Amino acid sequence: MKAGHDTDMITVEQRWRARDLAVLWHPCTQMREHTSGGALPLLTVARAEGAWLVGHDGRHVLDAISSWWTNLHGHAEPRIAHAIARQAQTLEQVILAGCSHAPAVELAERLLAIIPREPGRAPLAKVFYADNGSSGVEVALKMAYHWFHNRGDRNRTRFVALTGSYHGETLGALSVGDIPLYRRVYAPLLLEVLFAPSPDAFGAPDEATASERAHAAADALERLLTEHPGEVCAFILEPLVQCAGGMRMHHPAYLRRVRELCDTHGVFLIADEIAVGFGRTGTLFACEQAPAADCSGPGIQPDLLCLSKGLTGGFLPLCAVLATQAIYDGFLDDSRERAFLHSHSYSGNPLACAAALASLDIFESDGVIVRNRATATRMAELAAPLASHPLVREVRQAGMILAIELNPASDNREDGHAVEIARRRGLRMYRAALDHGVLLRPLGDVLYWMPPYCVDHAQLALLANATAVALDEAARCA
Ligand SMILES: *Cc1c(COP(=O)(O)O)cnc(C)c1O
Repeated sequence: MKAGHDTDMITVEQRWRARDLAVLWHPCTQMREHTSGGALPLLTVARAEGAWLVGHDGRHVLDAISSWWTNLHGHAEPRIAHAIARQAQTLEQVILAGCSHAPAVELAERLLAIIPREPGRAPLAKVFYADNGSSGVEVALKMAYHWFHNRGDRNRTRFVALTGSYHGETLGALSVGDIPLYRRVYAPLLLEVLFAPSPDAFGAPDEATASERAHAAADALERLLTEHPGEVCAFILEPLVQCAGGMRMHHPAYLRRVRELCDTHGVFLIADEIAVGFGRTGTLFACEQAPAADCSGPGIQPDLLCLSKGLTGGFLPLCAVLATQAIYDGFLDDSRERAFLHSHSYSGNPLACAAALASLDIFESDGVIVRNRATATRMAELAAPLASHPLVREVRQAGMILAIELNPASDNREDGHAVEIARRRGLRMYRAALDHGVLLRPLGDVLYWMPPYCVDHAQLALLANATAVALDEAARCA
């Protein structure tokens, strides 16, 4: 009886896979990997709860990557689900040009109240909504350029970004990114961006070395800005962790230096906290961890701050770009052309704003940031034994992000064969973890844990076990 039941359920999974592959083209995927012989099976998810993804056959898989870093408090979190349902019965969507609604206003008020503030600096004062992270990056870049344009300064047409950075996939966002896999093909279409060296602390033996790297990178940024006087309108970075670039982490001293350099050179500082915001690095926002100029206060304050991914707790797409009053004022005029005309059909969608408000409530009522400290400590304890695995080069952590970087699959990284070995190794680790009940998605040579904040100790133990298995599997492939 039971065997027959299982067979039926397997058929349900297989049927969904076949229907999917007949009609869907998946994001960030070489579809061949799902269709050719020995292929990677698509994970068909019937429902999800907390940190679990549940298949049609009832099999539970741990979502160790928070569904592309979006989920914070767990899947189907009832308080967020209720907030959306309530909002859907009241006001599901309305055009945000010329109209207003309470969720958009309340969310803007709440965000402006919780973001970092530097003493002596005018605070971020205005919220502009977009509906995904890449669009939010486009908004910030266009605002920075247009602000100078409105002042009659037509020479500040360039952006500075960091090597190893990632800011999204639309052409503007891709232009300020530096991951060859995503960028190379489109290079002829992209903006000419200036790249400054990343302050990446990879391999640094201690904090002093990481700090030295931060200062060396800041010195290089200073030289770059000095070599291009009056040409740059904005500098964009992911504070503390370059996530898609391989969870590379840097010393917070870099953020303070960058704040000062942007001020000195009259360049806007854009903080892309799309991935690191909302508690990922241990504080609500990564910018809070920068040492303050006078050793007080809550870190640095950017001129433009992009928030998305975790903004709605992982329920709905939404992006908020926060700007200073001075930037906003630069667009106030009788002329429409001087206005910021950028828009998206679903800008400030009420359902997404309601979800974001419910997520912020959970941060307060559940003491999430404090609770995460204990979770992060447990993650560190469980990952410690993995550091001595022969394949592991480095284990590093920033709050709820833990990365395990492997020795390169081959010494010659640009060699096509080496790239192929790395790809196959990644697929094998992915598959091995999945077979052991965990969704891990290696970024090249980097395995990382970025679980929903509700993850418990038993789930973390499962995660550590699946990671160990994946590492052994990778070792077999070298
Ligand atoms: C994911 C991401 C983006 C792009 O957001 P999308 O919603 O995927 O377009 C931009 N910047 C960073 C740092 C990201 O991690």
